[in-house]
Amino acid sequence: MRVLIVEDEPKICTYIKRGLEEQGYAVDTAANGREALELALRTPFDLMVLDIMLPELDGITVCEKLRQKEVCTPILMLTARDTVEDRVSGLDAGADDYLIKPFALSELLARLRALGRRDHTATKSPVLAVADLTLDTRSHRISRSGKTLELTAKEFAVIECLMREAGYALSRQTIADHVWDCSVFNESNIVDVYIRNLRRKIDAGHELKLIHTVRGIGYRLSAEDSVKTT
Ligand code: CA
Repeated sequence: MRVLIVEDEPKICTYIKRGLEEQGYAVDTAANGREALELALRTPFDLMVLDIMLPELDGITVCEKLRQKEVCTPILMLTARDTVEDRVSGLDAGADDYLIKPFALSELLARLRALGRRDHTATKSPVLAVADLTLDTRSHRISRSGKTLELTAKEFAVIECLMREAGYALSRQTIADHVWDCSVFNESNIVDVYIRNLRRKIDAGHELKLIHTVRGIGYRLSAEDSVKTT
């Protein structure tokens, strides 16, 4: 999952960024509203954390402009004051949820997990499953046939991305866009390296292979051999 944090207070921004990166999120940051808008319009973020009080363009305006352009990335607003007006104007502008400063990192993470589920899965279950492969987005635990797998944070992020779109072919670029932040270049090569490791950890030793190469496109996670087309 790739997140954009928009926050002009460097300490808070760094605090959130570190917390999210520890959980395996790819994190980009913006320190003012104009920069945030430009980034969010050209990058497919999975989630946004958006402060209301920002230089150049405030968070409410950024949110309104994104919704006008039909960017429907779930947005968690940060507000410094617990006033009804702030919360109402944030939600009216198209934000999905809000959090009042100061907040506990654990609450921010829980709210982002809930927003991620709302957007990406028909069922709101925090547990994703494909055949005997099971991934719990709360505990960050993944297992196959009941056996816990030891994955790095980025390996976890790649397989989570494939599991959320199970059955569908995802391009290397799509996978990279959701797993790495903008500081990483030559992503397609990186994706291949991670898939190789994931095959070793997830499919090796199992007769049923779940990770499939889709020629000319990228990869697909499925218990079946054929590609879903809708
Ligand atoms: Ca601020």
